[in-house]
Amino acid sequence: MRQYRYAMLLAGVLALSGGPLHASPQARAKPAAVAGTQTLSTRVVAYEIDARLDPVRRTITASEVLTYHNLTGQPQQTFPFHLYLNAFQPQSTFTTEERIDNPGLEWKREHYGAIRITRLEVTGMGDLTGQMQFIHPDDNNADDHTVIQVRVPKPVPAGADVQFKISFEDQLPEVVARTGYLRDFFMVGQWFPKVGVWWKGAWNCHQFHLDTEFFADFGTFDVKLTLPQDEVVGAGADLVSSVNNSDGTKTLVYHSEDVHDFSWTASPSFRLIEDSWTGSAGTMKIHLLMSPGHENTDERYLKVLKGTLQTYDEWIGPYPYDRITVVDPPHGGFRAGGMEYPTLVTADTSTWMPRGFLLPEVTLEHEFGHQYWYGMVATNEFEEAWLDEGINSYLEVKVMDHLYGNDTSMFNFPWGQLSDDGEQRRQYMEVADLDPITRFAWKFYDDDSYGGITYGKTSTVLLTLEKIIGEETLRRALHVYFLRYRFTHPTGEDFLKTVEEVSGKDLRWYFEQAVYGTSILDYEILDLHSDPANWYKDADNAGKSESGLYRNYVSVHRKGDFIFPVDVAIRFENGETVRERWDGRDRWIRYTYDRNSPVVSAEIDPEHQVGLDRNLFNNSYTVEEDKRAVRKLSNIWTFLTQWLAQLLAWLT
Ligand SMILES: [Zn+2]
Repeated sequence: MRQYRYAMLLAGVLALSGGPLHASPQARAKPAAVAGTQTLSTRVVAYEIDARLDPVRRTITASEVLTYHNLTGQPQQTFPFHLYLNAFQPQSTFTTEERIDNPGLEWKREHYGAIRITRLEVTGMGDLTGQMQFIHPDDNNADDHTVIQVRVPKPVPAGADVQFKISFEDQLPEVVARTGYLRDFFMVGQWFPKVGVWWKGAWNCHQFHLDTEFFADFGTFDVKLTLPQDEVVGAGADLVSSVNNSDGTKTLVYHSEDVHDFSWTASPSFRLIEDSWTGSAGTMKIHLLMSPGHENTDERYLKVLKGTLQTYDEWIGPYPYDRITVVDPPHGGFRAGGMEYPTLVTADTSTWMPRGFLLPEVTLEHEFGHQYWYGMVATNEFEEAWLDEGINSYLEVKVMDHLYGNDTSMFNFPWGQLSDDGEQRRQYMEVADLDPITRFAWKFYDDDSYGGITYGKTSTVLLTLEKIIGEETLRRALHVYFLRYRFTHPTGEDFLKTVEEVSGKDLRWYFEQAVYGTSILDYEILDLHSDPANWYKDADNAGKSESGLYRNYVSVHRKGDFIFPVDVAIRFENGETVRERWDGRDRWIRYTYDRNSPVVSAEIDPEHQVGLDRNLFNNSYTVEEDKRAVRKLSNIWTFLTQWLAQLLAWLT
């Protein structure tokens, strides 16, 4: 969509010449519905923020003008706002949940983060600072200050604008949950009062939990940042202007549109690498902000980023923005790594990162992928995290396999290899039956279950779905889902119905079990043996048939409650093979074959497409020597995956 690019360019030029940037916010907060305007999204919000960073005190002092366009279809008198930084306090819901998972958690002064509104005024309605009150829609924790509600004196009519003028101060924590400072590095995310989303006929503005991410409406952002002149700055927006001030600071002006958040980063130690990439929507800028000692990863980041841009462009749809900023956190700053904000992502590496360990590649692929699901499709991450993290993890597997090889997309050493789908599966299996995919993010049993199910299970469910509808069809369904729902806030059912529509199949039987349920899928070869045909007269002492005729038995058992049709490949000593398909409805099935050869092996799911199968080692059975070999291999595999799991847990 090239027109969009030109529109951005025009907006930048006008802003530089003192044009609309200084016009009233109402004039620019135009919804998509206004005749003659062409926007990607329905613009509900327009934020103008003027912020000053004090890098010594790690504080931000700012004023915000939020123009909210009431497209809710009804008058509104109360407005909730997220104050995310207040999560980083000892009695918050976030920290309370963290302490349940980790009773050894210690509280340190550096963990403290806060956002304090010093004044709130509504244009035409006066100073409403005294009208603000904290609300706790999720858990009644009176000590949680992550959501505030304001009641205005008179309702804002449907279709009208309301303008909030807010003065606030941030205290940044040492990096935690992907925001904060570390030495001279600042990653500033979720840092300003942010209005909730009117969704399904009600305000949706959940508290900040340990395992929740975000949900916000689309709009425009015009942000002025004032900070010391030696800071190298990156933001999820276009830089409109940069002016040096006489007090040793500089003021940077940024603009972005058709996004739902604004984040930024600053450090005097960043090394800026500029590049570009051209896709179906035109040419875009790439900004890499690299931390000291990470020179070895420059090329690796650029390669995976361009490969991912290309693959998403081909498979899913165009990337419509004219920029992406990649932030490489400094040594020890991994808590700022692996995060997505609109058109800005944080990556992850280390000085010694070996080439065969594809953590920087997987992380950057994943975070960029979020630009499509979290960024543009913009589902509710509080309530349906799987639609973002899960679909994104599935595509992470597909894109990584496509770019780095099916068996080597995570770990690629001469002595050991592991694919990304193997890692997704492993995460799921550790928590397999604790929670359904569709649980609200903060209602999962714990952090491990949230991660294992939301990321690992969803991606494994979609990989297994390929067996039912085919890889190409699923890719087409994702393409249709993206094009149809980008810049809206679709639900899980919107996604599932799109898959059914594109595949032309009723898939409720699968979704009920895999998406809404917790049942385990596990099939095993229960028995495999042969008997001489006329055993009472035909067998020698070793049980060998003298006539050469055998009756062969193969039994398959459904161990779990998850019913799924399975293929079984059976092989006889003379090389003959037979293939069966069992609907899996009963608990077991026994196949009988009269052959002039004994059966030697049977394997369930011979193409290894059913990743949801919990135990892959009981899927095959081979008589005699081969069986020992299989066992031995399986032990090595188990050892290797456990060792890798340990390594990954230690690294991330
Ligand atoms: Zn993610």
